Amino acid sequence: MSHHPYRTFRTTVARITALSPHFTRITLQGDDLAHFGTDGLDQRIKLIIPFADGSVTDVGQFDETQSMTEWYRRWRELPDDKRNPIRTYTIRSPRPEAREIDIDFVLHGTEGPASAWATGARVGDALAVVGPDSRSDQQGGGIEWRPGAATSVLIAGDETATPAICSIVEALPAHAVGEVCIEVPTEADALELTAPEGVNVRWLARGSGAHGVRLSAAVHEWGVRRGARGADTAKETLSEPDADEVLWEVPEAVDGGEYAWLAGEAGTITALRRHLVRDLGIDRRSVAFMGYWREGRAEAS
Ligand SMILES: Cc1cc2nc3c(=O)[nH]c(=O)nc-3n(C[C@H](O)[C@H](O)[C@H](O)COP(=O)(O)OP(=O)(O)OC[C@H]3O[C@@H](n4cnc5c(N)ncnc54)[C@H](O)[C@@H]3O)c2cc1C
Repeated sequence: MSHHPYRTFRTTVARITALSPHFTRITLQGDDLAHFGTDGLDQRIKLIIPFADGSVTDVGQFDETQSMTEWYRRWRELPDDKRNPIRTYTIRSPRPEAREIDIDFVLHGTEGPASAWATGARVGDALAVVGPDSRSDQQGGGIEWRPGAATSVLIAGDETATPAICSIVEALPAHAVGEVCIEVPTEADALELTAPEGVNVRWLARGSGAHGVRLSAAVHEWGVRRGARGADTAKETLSEPDADEVLWEVPEAVDGGEYAWLAGEAGTITALRRHLVRDLGIDRRSVAFMGYWREGRAEAS
């Protein structure tokens, strides 16, 4: 039988580890996870969040013969009270040999169903995870980190991008050169992260400031050190995004020079990308920018 690139895994909570005031690592286990893909980097997964009574509507998501597109169509047609929320997360660490994966959740309150689930999770709770199937011929889906032959990198993001950034930085080659800027809620949210010598990692505590201010300042500082080059050539290529537009654009391949990877709150990331492309003249085809969430809006599944 051929296997779809992504399938739904049945898991239960094995361990809950508080990493910092705002990050909680939830380790999930399940026999199914023996076939979980191990591509890593910023590979995304989907979580099907159970209702408060633990129920999940069956739309065929566990039927391995069905593609995600098939069961997702049925899921979309469900009435609101039967449609479980689906949210996007990052695989922090896959350990298929131990039949485990780690997901690092930002606890941002109980308004959002995913954060609420993680806040109240107990060992033994069930969670369905839509992730890569190692038996599929198509590997590497859901990975946006594609630096190609770039010789220096800029990585910038907020707490929601921290799991992806940590995985990316840990996978950088020893000769990598670049700057990593990560804005987190408090100083105590700076996690342990080992980077190659040529990569400068800056943890930026937001404190009582507004979201994105410290991240933006750090990227501007980096830009000053780098200097503006070729700003006029890129100026025309960006239009102002529409409020409903999906803020996500990733280059296919970079054939050298600089590569920037930006992820986090959509408004912040859009402004950063504009700065890189319009003000600093970085080719937009060298900039991956991804709105991981949007202030004041639930994730549109
Ligand atoms: C590719 C990708 C990978 C991601 N990886 C991770 C990950 O590994 N860990 C992680 O924690 N998040 C990650 N996120 C972000 C996560 O999907 C969003 O934060 C999501 O909105 C959380 O769902 P929710 O049900 O808690 O809140 P929602 O129901 O989506 O939103 C409810 C409210 O909460 C607000 N909100 C959402 N997220 C935050 C936040 N972080 N801080 C403050 N307010 C917020 C929304 O604006 C909205 O007003 C990722 C997103 C993407 C696209």
